[in-house]
Amino acid sequence: MIYLDNAATTQMAPEVLEAMLQYEKDGRGNPHRGLHVFAERATIVLEAARTRISSFVGGNFDELIFTKSTTEGLNLAIENMTRGLKAGDEVVLTIFDHHATLLPLLERSKEQGFSLRTIPMTDKGELDLEKAREMIGQRTKLVVFPHVSNVLGTVLPAKELVELAKSVGAEVLVDGAQAVGHLPVDVVDLGCDAYAFGAHKMYGPMGIGALYVKRDALASWKPIIYGGGMIEEVEGESVRYLTGPRLFEAGTPNVTGALGFAAACNYVEMFGRNAIQEKEQELSKMLINGLSELLNVTIFPSAQSIVSFSVENMHPHDVAQYLSDKGIAVRAGHHCAAPLAKLLGPAGTVRVSFGATSTKEDVVALLSALQDL
Ligand code: PMP
Repeated sequence: MIYLDNAATTQMAPEVLEAMLQYEKDGRGNPHRGLHVFAERATIVLEAARTRISSFVGGNFDELIFTKSTTEGLNLAIENMTRGLKAGDEVVLTIFDHHATLLPLLERSKEQGFSLRTIPMTDKGELDLEKAREMIGQRTKLVVFPHVSNVLGTVLPAKELVELAKSVGAEVLVDGAQAVGHLPVDVVDLGCDAYAFGAHKMYGPMGIGALYVKRDALASWKPIIYGGGMIEEVEGESVRYLTGPRLFEAGTPNVTGALGFAAACNYVEMFGRNAIQEKEQELSKMLINGLSELLNVTIFPSAQSIVSFSVENMHPHDVAQYLSDKGIAVRAGHHCAAPLAKLLGPAGTVRVSFGATSTKEDVVALLSALQDL
């Protein structure tokens, strides 16, 4: 299989699988609960993973909540960052937003009465910063955007957006799902209040993600799940809760997943995110050049690690099916970002997404299959 669907999920790195397997073979325990050796090891593994993953995005260990996915992290953040917003308040998002931010925001806005404003894109497929400057104003309480678009690969001007939001006292939530495995990320340098990401798009396991939340903001947040492992003390009806990330992690945590996530950070840094970015840009350019020589292909503005295109009179699903029959995996359709994908074509796009181990030979094989098609 020539695997070019890394934006949907990456293949797990052998080093990650090995680390997870070894931990399970050695014997697992329930962290922060037991006194035997396995339980103590589980606690150490979980907290070491928290430190490793937070440093991967430039944060501190007491600012990183484990979640089951990017989606769960974004939902937790939106629940807290829209609390108290009402009619007259505005939340600004972008045409690039994934359903993981769009849908919870839509539901919250319907219930609470605040308005949503969507920053459009330019003809070049970039965020329209002029429009952003017009839209982010005194009514804006929260700005939400993906660091990298999962449809076009566009890298959003994150620092400029944070600056605009901060100039009006708004909070900022960034969806980092498509960024963490492809370019350097530093949440402190960005200045955002929260940053969500997951392991399975960066060669780690499925079922584990993380949400960075600035220490000051975290102090006022409430959990959405209650249960074991989140309290200092329960006495009758009075509860003294833990503070910090563990308040948001009730129930038995995914220790093996956390360990794999940390191993995935090591794996990505073994390549180097600058080097990954450079290589993926080079492969994208090579593919775009090749596609532009094919008849009946429309290439959408593409950047970095993702190339989206369509073939005239052919449903994107049929293109993806044809390629799959030739042993090439790509994605087709709306990519869970329907507003943007529908702007590009009624049935969305065919999407090629590169990863750290993609090669020029992959691009040559893909172009050859498309030529046949
Ligand atoms: N945001 C973006 C930009 C994404 O591409 C994805 C995954 N398609 C998500 C959020 C959600 O990630 P997950 O499905 O791993 O929760």
